[in-house]
Amino acid sequence: MSGFSNISLKRDYNRWNKKYWNYELPDETDIIFSPVPDDRDADCNKQNDGSFLIRISPIYQASRPATRWFLSHEMCHIPTWHGKAFHGDLFYAEWLRVLNAGLLRELY
Ligand SMILES: [Zn+2]
Repeated sequence: MSGFSNISLKRDYNRWNKKYWNYELPDETDIIFSPVPDDRDADCNKQNDGSFLIRISPIYQASRPATRWFLSHEMCHIPTWHGKAFHGDLFYAEWLRVLNAGLLRELY
């Protein structure tokens, strides 16, 4: 399969977790290319064992900028988790924080 792999998603996750979150996000997060509901491009959910699962639609698998954009969004749901992935002020403040801290420059 062309494009970026589940392994490269995890590599980005680990690098960004170190660089922008000081390792505060859980190591055991699963990140995969996988179909998501029609109204989404990607999502973040808690699994039965308490770990997080980030899914990015395979539609975007050939585009590293798109993939990283969605990954950066979904990663911000973890420290701002509110019983579910929640798009409140805290979430957007967190996303802006990491984008400003340098993540934006890694997208393209
Ligand atoms: Zn979201």
